[in-house]
Amino acid sequence: MNVLCPVCQKSVRTGHARRCRHCGCEVAILRKIHESAQESILLALKSLRIGHDAIAHDFAHESWGLRRSRQAAAIGLLAAVALADPVEIPRWMRRRRSMLQAE
Ligand SMILES: [Zn+2]
Repeated sequence: MNVLCPVCQKSVRTGHARRCRHCGCEVAILRKIHESAQESILLALKSLRIGHDAIAHDFAHESWGLRRSRQAAAIGLLAAVALADPVEIPRWMRRRRSMLQAE
């Protein structure tokens, strides 16, 4: 897995590396955050699949808080639509739009 070093902005393969090979910045914690965000996405998908929409929404929100991603925004929107939540639907739409614009 690659992450962007927060200091030098270079792509760093995190594998087992604890530090950026370009500038020495600690990157191991970034890998853990990324993995936790991915785990929350998987739990959100599993929750959606079995109809636990509120739990799926919580996991999507958790993932978004750890790491903003298109996947978290998409799943959050799906869960909010399933819940027919008039507040969360536009929030997730804005989040999703911001991810698409950032590309
Ligand atoms: Zn670096």
